[in-house]
Amino acid sequence: MGYMHQVFLGGKGVYACRDCHTHIALRSRVESKQYTGQYGRALLFVDVVNVRAGDEDKRSMTTGVHIVRDIYCMRCNKYVGWTYIKAFEPDQRFKEGKFILERERIYDVTREWGVY
Ligand SMILES: [Zn+2]
Repeated sequence: MGYMHQVFLGGKGVYACRDCHTHIALRSRVESKQYTGQYGRALLFVDVVNVRAGDEDKRSMTTGVHIVRDIYCMRCNKYVGWTYIKAFEPDQRFKEGKFILERERIYDVTREWGVY
């Protein structure tokens, strides 16, 4: 975590921060769309870029207790989702090291270009 330089993602299906348009993730790196965040729909990504993580927090979720860190856009510092550090339920361990992005906080650059 913690990139020194802003990374630009190429190709189709690039998700960016809704506020400052910094590229954050590729649609091809989505593992699941069946997640719910604080603002509704959320997506699970294998990896993301241009974010910084906050402090570790132990949270009780519908799928059990997890250690997570909220993640923020590196450029504008807005909350965009969280990353799973540790899952206590064995069947949830596949999420460790992966990232949740709130659909509300990101937009598909290639699909919604010009909307703003
Ligand atoms: Zn931003």
